[in-house]
Amino acid sequence: MATQTFLVKLKKLTKKKHQQFCYEQSEFADCVNHCVERIQKGEKLSSKEVRFNLKSTIKNEAIRRAKKAISDYRKGLAKTIPTFRNSIGIKINNQNWNSVRKNGKWYIAFTTNKGKKTLPIVETADGQMYFPFLTPKNREFRGTIELLRKGTDWYVAIPIQVSSELDLEEKHKGVKESMQDYTFIGVDLGLRHIAVLSEPLSGKRQLFSGKEVGYMRRHFRSLRRSLGKKKAQRAIERIGKKESRWMKDYNRKLAKDIVDFARQFDHPMIKLERLDDIRTTCRSMTKTEKSIHSWPFYQLKQFIKERAAKFNIPVVDINPFKTSQTCFDCKHAEKGNRSQEKFKCKKCGHASHADLNAANNIAVSTTLAA
Ligand SMILES: [Zn+2]
Repeated sequence: MATQTFLVKLKKLTKKKHQQFCYEQSEFADCVNHCVERIQKGEKLSSKEVRFNLKSTIKNEAIRRAKKAISDYRKGLAKTIPTFRNSIGIKINNQNWNSVRKNGKWYIAFTTNKGKKTLPIVETADGQMYFPFLTPKNREFRGTIELLRKGTDWYVAIPIQVSSELDLEEKHKGVKESMQDYTFIGVDLGLRHIAVLSEPLSGKRQLFSGKEVGYMRRHFRSLRRSLGKKKAQRAIERIGKKESRWMKDYNRKLAKDIVDFARQFDHPMIKLERLDDIRTTCRSMTKTEKSIHSWPFYQLKQFIKERAAKFNIPVVDINPFKTSQTCFDCKHAEKGNRSQEKFKCKKCGHASHADLNAANNIAVSTTLAA
């Protein structure tokens, strides 16, 4: 996982807004310079003690920027402590900005001196891909942005955590136009529960037990075994085919149920785990068992994608990194959090069904898999 920063250009600002932002930028630069001086004198600053015409959250960013300049200098990372000028970027933390979808277009909203401003952006592939993940709903996935100016053009530098790039545009050409604030549905696939679906905001969920599949697999296996002794090769093959047909039917129905669950929400987006995790979680299994277990999941995912496409519901693959060990409440990740089907956070004590906790994490994950 890496943090990537992408640059979004704001549509041409009105003269009034441009002047307001220029004023804030110079105020921010002055504020950082002022803080550098006071911190060097040994003062411990808080936004209340810094008298500049800026929101206190922006003043806090100025203090942070000043501290960084001093520590970079002290650590030898910078030759001097610079004097900040009007070209400095204004930092805005994650609680004070988000993306907004209005009339089919993307906007960025952020805090300024004159209240929260919602401004249209010049739409690009990056914006299309990432803005759905930066709405007010997914606060914890936004980082600190920087408002930058080049001449009279304004830009916002937005950090986002990605494992690899996923071209939403390419995958979902048909739905691109209707992209709104998505409702994210996490789907955890496994053996104990074949599928656990969750929409964390409403708390709606659905669990599909793995018992039936487990039972049928054992049934077919024992049939094959009893025949194996009689070396009835043809009959074994016949059973094998019967089993695949059964599995295929089962997966078709399950894919339909999963997509039906998603359809009850406005603008659903289904998030699935990339498959390799399912194989690694079943450590006790032999290699052949693992391969037997992985193909039905692959098929199930294909069916989900096909079915979802009929309703223009995008399906994205999420990097399964630590989704099962991370606490959905406090985000603390530790192996010991999970024991079989129970999840209990070692840090905050949050207890939940392990697969449901994983489905919730998948639903809010912004770490897209390749
Ligand atoms: Zn916790």
